[in-house]
Amino acid sequence: MASHIHDLIIIGGGPGGLTAGIYAQRAALDTLLIEKGAPGGQVNNSDEVENWPGMVKINGAELALNLARHAQSYGLEPMAREVVCVQPGIEFHEVCLDEGPPLRTHAVILATGGSPRKLGIPGEEEYYGKGVSYCAVCDGFFFRNKKVVVVGGGDSAAEEALYLAKITERVQIVHRRDELRAGRILQQRLAREPKIEIVWSSVLTSINANSAGVNGIDVRNLETGVKSKIPVDGVFIFVGFNPNNKLVPAGTKMSVKGYVITDEKCVTSIPGIYAVGDLREKYARQIVTAAADGCVAALAAAHYVEAKKTSL
Ligand code: NAP
Repeated sequence: MASHIHDLIIIGGGPGGLTAGIYAQRAALDTLLIEKGAPGGQVNNSDEVENWPGMVKINGAELALNLARHAQSYGLEPMAREVVCVQPGIEFHEVCLDEGPPLRTHAVILATGGSPRKLGIPGEEEYYGKGVSYCAVCDGFFFRNKKVVVVGGGDSAAEEALYLAKITERVQIVHRRDELRAGRILQQRLAREPKIEIVWSSVLTSINANSAGVNGIDVRNLETGVKSKIPVDGVFIFVGFNPNNKLVPAGTKMSVKGYVITDEKCVTSIPGIYAVGDLREKYARQIVTAAADGCVAALAAAHYVEAKKTSL
């Protein structure tokens, strides 16, 4: 007997995937959401989210839980498995799991988000978890009253530096230019925080450690060429992220930076396959725009599946 064909499989349980799940369930699609980690995705790593409309301030993990509960209230039960490939087909698409037979579905929403970009310098990989971190909310606690460095000049670096200033003795932000990319409000908050100092126009060339963990960094000023050493206990790196595009089927249109190109309905160049959130090429990568993508993709998928079933 041929195996069941789902209407929709959503891969990824961040704000984009969960919102797609809510809309798909409300549209009565036979939907499966697969997420290998905790529902909520990157939002779980945010201490305070201040731009989710309707909530002046909400803890990231709490927002993630609310989104997951909302989807579950419509009967969507996320499957905790790892997807290893998506094989497009004409009659149906296949979603392969780490083990067992592939799942069949008419539509797929890729909501796999992004992962922190690495600096690629000596010490970064070796001392990950021993003083090198990509998540202040997860690891900041271990640096109570210690000295840390934050690398990067965007919104993430600014937000995480402000969070770390509440816990640690001193935060130095090392940024490669002489102005920040972070938004104005965050810049004003940084300027008001006495524990935060910015090391301008500089890059890390090495992260150093002894047997107890990270104990310093080597820094080079890009304007003067001067090299210096800064003693620190922890290094928090926020230099952007790379899209998690390894499940994107071969032949799908992508940008040079690896983001999936879609139309305004979030459809990729393959009919029935959609991309949402941080994986998708777009202007603003925010929680609210990921959620908006999830809504659009699920509504478009509902229309696609209905038309497909009618033509069968
Ligand atoms: P981002 O905006 O891409 O900023 C990355 C920062 O890292 C930039 O300052 C960049 O320097 C620097 N950088 C990149 N590669 C580097 C390298 N190899 N060495 C040293 N520095 C390097 O990334 P993000 O801060 O993670 O934010 C990602 C997206 O999420 C953005 O759209 C952001 O607005 C959004 N976001 C929003 C909020 C919020 O609204 N509250 C919070 C977090 C993130 P340059 O400036 O010189 O390029």
